[in-house]
Amino acid sequence: MSEARSCTLPLAAIIRDRIAATGPISIADYMSLALSHPEHGYYIKRDPFGTRGDFITAPEISQIFGEMIGLWCAQMWMQLGGGPISIVELGPGRGSLMADVLRATKSMAGFHDAISIHMVETSPTLAHAQYMRLRDDHPRIEWLDSIAEIPPNKTLLIANEFFDALPIKQYVITDEGMRERRVTWNEAQSAFEFVLGDAGLMLAKSGNAIPPDTIMEHSPVSRSIMRQLAQHIHTHGGAGLIIDYGYLGEAHHDTLQALKAHLFHPVLAEPGEADITAHVDFLSLIAIARDAGNAVAPLATQGEFLTRMGAQLRLEMLLRQATPEQKSNLISGLERLVSPQAMGELFKVMGFASDARMELPGVM
Ligand code: SAH
Repeated sequence: MSEARSCTLPLAAIIRDRIAATGPISIADYMSLALSHPEHGYYIKRDPFGTRGDFITAPEISQIFGEMIGLWCAQMWMQLGGGPISIVELGPGRGSLMADVLRATKSMAGFHDAISIHMVETSPTLAHAQYMRLRDDHPRIEWLDSIAEIPPNKTLLIANEFFDALPIKQYVITDEGMRERRVTWNEAQSAFEFVLGDAGLMLAKSGNAIPPDTIMEHSPVSRSIMRQLAQHIHTHGGAGLIIDYGYLGEAHHDTLQALKAHLFHPVLAEPGEADITAHVDFLSLIAIARDAGNAVAPLATQGEFLTRMGAQLRLEMLLRQATPEQKSNLISGLERLVSPQAMGELFKVMGFASDARMELPGVM
């Protein structure tokens, strides 16, 4: 029973105490505690990936995903004139994407000598898994706790399913104005629940086409991180690839979701025990990257990106040396990544570069 567990989980007690002390908390605070509390946060102690975990990501589905990103990195490196460059990955999970990047670029003359790798990861468990996976693959890999530590060099940035894990806030349009949707504890029900905060910003009645009860989302943390990354790329030169599920335009609906054992789970049921995410607001990320002076390509879908990068050709190459079982996994894996019915269209690829003259392979 999820309600019963909400009473007994140590993180639930911490959140209840916080609410008792300060009143209802924002969804961003709830998400941040549920995902990243230093002791009980969802990402901090476990490896959530794979069939026995809670969800699966593109690099865990097919090696071709990371390999195509590797080719992208090598192409961008050449366009940036070669020479020393940092590859920065945000939220690298199990390290599979980086392992595939390194394998795909092994025979690219000079590339491995030029790169240093910087993994930004808050979870000690996952950082350890990444270390074990990659320690023999490249001599220069370091782990960073935050993006503030990214070295001031030319940079290629990769973020797959990173921004969806960052805390969001939600607001509801009401007759009294815009009100924040917050989280409180219902003692009678023994469960967390959503409540509306005080009436806030009054929207002009005329010309306001957004109907009452509409939920709007906003992620101050994502914006702040994107601002720092965009500044960094613009100042030091480089390019970035952000891949995630998301929307283009304002989210006029609730995209907050939790997953446990590959099934949707009530967001407030068991803090720390399920993955919580929201769709990424790409329009904001694009605007921030542009405002910092970067060139941003129109969003591509994941299917378009992989196809343009030559995923099909890579698949055919791999099939030539594969056992029958490997063959069927390779084929179904790539199909899942590119098919519009699976991940091909929901996932978007945002590419940006410090210099508008650079071409962004796969995205335009
Ligand atoms: N990119 C990986 C993992 C995606 S899951 C893949 O595609 O498989 C999200 C990842 O982001 C996890 O590694 C998680 O620990 C990490 N993460 C979540 N919030 C973070 C933050 N604020 N800073 C750094 N890493 C974070």
